[in-house]
Amino acid sequence: MIHHTCDCCKQAIDSKNSVRYIVRLEVYASLDPVEEDLSDDRDHLLEIHDILEHLDGDEDAGIADEVYHQVRYDLCSDCRRRFVENPLGRPVSQQFDFSQN
Ligand SMILES: [Zn+2]
Repeated sequence: MIHHTCDCCKQAIDSKNSVRYIVRLEVYASLDPVEEDLSDDRDHLLEIHDILEHLDGDEDAGIADEVYHQVRYDLCSDCRRRFVENPLGRPVSQQFDFSQN
């Protein structure tokens, strides 16, 4: 039996009683041209791929991670709700009134 834990609160996610939610985050440099040039029909993802291909060796891993970063999290339903409410983890100025039934 595969045992999943929430990557946020570290609680076990019991597949019988609760749903496991998967968050996939993809963060990449936009590489937008500085000047507006509508004839520029570049494929930005292809460019990122090219950049990554030219980055060899472990010392460049940090640079590659800045250009393109993908991560996956397992979340329980509570953490999923919190993530959806505030995906960027911004400070919440006012307390939301979540009912705790
Ligand atoms: Zn959780």
